[in-house]
Amino acid sequence: MRNMPRVLIVEDEPAIAELIAVNLRHNGFQPTWAMDSATAQRELDDVLPDVILLDWMLPGESGLSLAKKWRADPRTKAVPILMLTARGDESDRVAGLDAGADDYITKPFSTKEMLARIRAVLRRRTPENVEGVVAMGDLQLDTATHRVTFQGQPVKLGPTEFKLLNFLMKHAERVHSRGQLLDRVWGDHVFIEERTVDVHVKRLREALGAAGVMVETVRGAGYRLTTQVTVPSLGAGAGAPATNAKGSGGEEKRA
Ligand code: CA
Repeated sequence: MRNMPRVLIVEDEPAIAELIAVNLRHNGFQPTWAMDSATAQRELDDVLPDVILLDWMLPGESGLSLAKKWRADPRTKAVPILMLTARGDESDRVAGLDAGADDYITKPFSTKEMLARIRAVLRRRTPENVEGVVAMGDLQLDTATHRVTFQGQPVKLGPTEFKLLNFLMKHAERVHSRGQLLDRVWGDHVFIEERTVDVHVKRLREALGAAGVMVETVRGAGYRLTTQVTVPSLGAGAGAPATNAKGSGGEEKRA
């Protein structure tokens, strides 16, 4: 028998839950339905699903509150959560993501979109989200504690920059196109524009400070994380010019 991914559907509207379950079954998933938070919690205590589809508007405890709770629980914190929401407001989406949801689907959604997003979070979970410490030169990233340090100093990163750095460190010295990064870091490139990658790469470089030069732009190809650059030392001579004297665009290299 095939190993079918388990999906826990937390949704109080039977018609929607049934529609989702039927589609999931037809596409090789094993759905379970919980119509309220108490049932959902019992399901989770019983067997961990591979993905949770979590409705925002539930009677009693809201989906948002459940997402926060499950993220804080060591048993469930690694299970990807997709929020189902009728709200299209950006502030609500941000609140959902802040609560620990991996992604959100705005109702009404197509089956195709739902399946794409479920597959995306499943892809994203492995192998980049396996816990452990990865190091490149003086740069260290710990996926268990979500801490990044450079030359022993903490580096503060947003969640997307953290995921991006995690992926780049685990696939170092290789060039990744924007499309590949969207696929492997964001999980799909159907719904997000490629320039989003550039924005997060820029933020990542800025957050890394002196180590930012390790994130190289490879013209016409994409990005790569490399130790084959001179990284200015933090320790030696504070106040020394932290440039490699190449000027703007100097970081770009031919593949
Ligand atoms: Ca609902």
